[in-house]
This record gives sequence, structure tokens and C-alpha cells, in this order.
Amino acid sequence: MTEQANTPIDWQARAQALRLDGRLLIDGKRWDAADGRCFTKVSPGDGLALPDIARGGAADIDLAVKSARAAFEDGRWRLQSPAQRKAVLIEWSRRVMQAAEELALIETVDMGKPIARSLAADVPGSARTLAWYGEAIDKIYDEVAPTGADSLALITREPLGVVGAIVPWNYPLLMACWKLGPALAAGNSVVLKPSERSPFSAMRLAELALEAGLPPGVLNVVTGYGHEAGEALALHPDVDGIGFTGSTRVGKRMFEYAGQSNLKRMYTELGGKSAVLVFASSDVEKAAAAVAGTLFYNQGESCNAPSRAVVHASVADRFVEALVAQAAHYQPANPLNVKAGMGALVDSVHADSVMRMIERGHAEGARCVAGGHRVLVAESNCYVEPTIFDQVHNRMHIAAEEIFGPVASVISFDTEAEAIAIANDSPYGLQAGVWSNELSQAHRVARALRAGTVHVNQYNDDDITVPFGGVKQSGNGRDKSLHAFDKYTELKTTWLRIDLA
Ligand code: NAD
Repeated sequence: MTEQANTPIDWQARAQALRLDGRLLIDGKRWDAADGRCFTKVSPGDGLALPDIARGGAADIDLAVKSARAAFEDGRWRLQSPAQRKAVLIEWSRRVMQAAEELALIETVDMGKPIARSLAADVPGSARTLAWYGEAIDKIYDEVAPTGADSLALITREPLGVVGAIVPWNYPLLMACWKLGPALAAGNSVVLKPSERSPFSAMRLAELALEAGLPPGVLNVVTGYGHEAGEALALHPDVDGIGFTGSTRVGKRMFEYAGQSNLKRMYTELGGKSAVLVFASSDVEKAAAAVAGTLFYNQGESCNAPSRAVVHASVADRFVEALVAQAAHYQPANPLNVKAGMGALVDSVHADSVMRMIERGHAEGARCVAGGHRVLVAESNCYVEPTIFDQVHNRMHIAAEEIFGPVASVISFDTEAEAIAIANDSPYGLQAGVWSNELSQAHRVARALRAGTVHVNQYNDDDITVPFGGVKQSGNGRDKSLHAFDKYTELKTTWLRIDLA
């Protein structure tokens, strides 16, 4: 930290002084798009224009893939020892923390989340991810199969080769690091395609990697639109695997791209409509605080947001009252204000889509008990109040579809079986929660829920040490933990005959 501990940072002044570079980063150098095209976006917090961003297309992706392939084949990174790769990743993580204020500011200016959160969660979480995979890579042993005395069968993990990482805008740095940490630690080369709605932090992250000693070409960043740069990367015949995080709609396309090209490995982290089950025995007020905290956190733009609160009828009124009281802490404010409980949605197009869903909730007969309005802050129309609908039925659109905004649906139930059926009645299966002070019930229900993660009597706990991912249409494969290496490595068997004579 460069500031005196007791001097508050003037984030507005810092934002005005921020210099952003929207060019591509290929082979260790900054480039304009091959055809010279750019696109622009505004900062959702105040609607002010940000610098031009290179509109990468198929030619730029091809250049980036060639650079990554050359780096992979000549072994400038892959053939470094695990301990050497570890040292680079740890130095990269250190530099990320050194640049924490700058990176946090980029994230907030680019996509609207509160600066205090960017600084306290996104940047340290990203740094920890890089360091954790660096630390892990020289502690993982390969296997020797239990064959017989006359043979030696080695089971080794090999890097995939060239990995494409396509990431969304809601946690731009963190989602990139969830891919880059394990993919690079394992020795792959990577082409990263950040979201067109939040491209700036990825380029700065890649510059810091170069400064930390990652050889040029090992990590390339191509900005651009999904249907141009993203599609070209997913279709590229010389890309060996894709780590994709984004919507279920685009996730389905990813498998088509794999089929249309080279059957590249395809791993997807997709949408969610997570349910939290609140039973009568639970601490209802605590449950409401946890739902508010994780749903309104990041403006509701979290894949695992507990957007369906499924509450026992006997405590539903108490729960709703407590949730409404909690919503007061998350009123939208300029994200550069350190006290902002909630910031701006990523852009006005997304705010329009959240408002359409709120209108739909009204039209379908749900009762809006808090929020429901768009508000103007700092002359930007990207802000939506924390909104709570009560008396929701699970088949209403607001309960069935991912809104990706600060909108809660409260659904009541009478029996445990009914609660489980409601929670599982969704095409998604990312996360779920159970609040119950009856031990057997908590275990029983947790087992019955079809989700990648089930939280019991909390919803916020998380760490790089545990896998993250979903079942059903929330995706396949897992980010985080040692299991993430499964996505970025292939198992190889090498069988040697030993002459016993
Ligand atoms: P999105 O699917 O619109 O875009 C994600 C990325 O894919 C972006 O980089 C985009 O440019 C690219 N893309 C878009 N169309 C493409 C195409 N045709 N071909 C190739 N690439 C394409 O998603 P989004 O709006 O950026 O992110 C929000 C979604 O991400 C939500 O559904 C959310 O639940 C999900 N998400 C999931 C997780 C998880 O871990 N499961 C984490 C964060 C976000």
C-alpha cells in the first residue's frame, strides 16, 4: 500500500488519472487489431467513456494461437521445472498485490463493483489463486501402476498444449486467474479472451506476468466480442482445450464449436439459479443476512447468487421482514465511494434486462416487498435497487431464469420433500444452501440437492482449496482446488518392459 494508513484514498481523483491501454497483448508485445478496428464502452459507475479497445478478430486469434503454440513447442515454459514455474507464479502473485490499488480501480471503473470489494476480495483472491497453484505444482507426484515385476507403467500428467480461456465480466480478474493459475502451473500456453464488457484488467494482469518472468508468448490476451474473437478461439483447430466461464446459452455453443473443429477439450462454468432452503428450526435472521449478503454482493451479478429463498411457511413472514431490513445495507451508490454497499450493473443493456425481469415478476403476480426501481446515480442509469419478491411460485420466470441482478424470489413450502423438489426443479445445479438446526435434516437435505456445492448454515464460505462448478446445465469440470488440474492436463501411460532374465 502506498498510502499512509490513515489517509483516505481519493478514488475519484485516481480514476481520473487512470491510464488504460486497450491494445492486445501477443508474444509479449502490445498490438492494435490486425484490421485496426476498435470498440468503446463506458464506465457504468458514471457513464463516462473509457479508452478505445482493440476489436480482435480471427486474424488476431490466429496470431495469438501461433505465438502460444511456438512457446509450447520450444518448451520455454513447459520444460521449466515445476519449482521454476512455481517461482514465477509466486512472483506474479506478489506483483498483483503490489498493484492491488491500480487493479482494483480498473475492475471497479470497468464493471461497476464497489471499490472496497475489488480491493478486499477480487484482487487478493486473484493473487492467492496464482500463488496457490504455484505452490501446488512442485508437490504433485505422478503414479506408478501396480502391474508386475516385469514391467513399469508410469501414469503421468502432461499439459494439454494451447489452452483458450474465455471469461465473463462479473469477476474479470478472478475468473481469469481461476483458469490461468492451474493452466499455466501445469505448463500450458494460454490465449485469454476477456469479456468485451470488462477487458482492461486482463491486459494489466498479463503485463504483470511478463514482469514476473513468464516468457513472452506463454500468455496472450485478445480482446474483442464473443461472436468474433471468442468464436474464433473456440473454433481454432490448433487450440487443445477451452476453459469457458459464462452463460449457459453460450456454453452450449462451446460444445458445438468443439464438434465443428478438433474436438478440443471443453470445460464450462455456466449459469445458476441457486436455492437456499430455510427450515423452521433454523436461525431465520442469520439466514436472511446470508442470503442478502451473497445475493446483493456484486449487484447480484454472481453465478452462485442465492436468488431463490425457499422458506418454510411458518417462518416465511419473519424471513421476508429480515431480508427487507437487510436490503437497506445494499442501496446502490457510486462504486468509487468506499462505503457503497452495492455498485452499478455492468451496463445499461444489462440493467434493461434486469428491469424487464422485475416487470415480469409484477405481471406474474409476485408481491414486490422491497426495491424494484432503477435509480440514477452519478448521471448513470446502470443502477437497480435491491429487489425482493414474495409469494413467488417456482415456475414464474423470476424463479426459473437467471436474472443476474439484485433480485430475490421468496417461495414458501410446507414439507421437506416439497422444499427439495422446488430446489431441484431447475435446469441449473451450481450451488444450494440449507439452513436447519436439525443435524440429520441438514445432512439428508444436503445429500438430496443436485448442486456442485451445498452450503449448510452459511452461504459465504469459500476458499481456493475447494472445487467450484456445477451439475446439470451449470457446466462440467471444476475450477479451483487440485481438481482444476484435471481440465488442463491429460493422463499419459508409459509402459516399459523389464527383462527379468
Ligand atoms: P456470456 O456467455 O455472454 O460471455 C462469456 C464470455 O464468452 C465473454 O468473454 C464473451 O465475449 C464470450 N462469448 C460470448 N458469445 C460467444 C460466442 N458465440 N463464442 C465464443 N465466445 C463467446 O456470459 P457473461 O454475460 O459474460 O457472464 C455472465 C454469465 O456467466 C452468467 O450466466 C453467470 O452465471 C456465468 N458465470 C458462471 C460462473 C461459474 O463459475 N459457473 C462464474 C461467473 C459467471
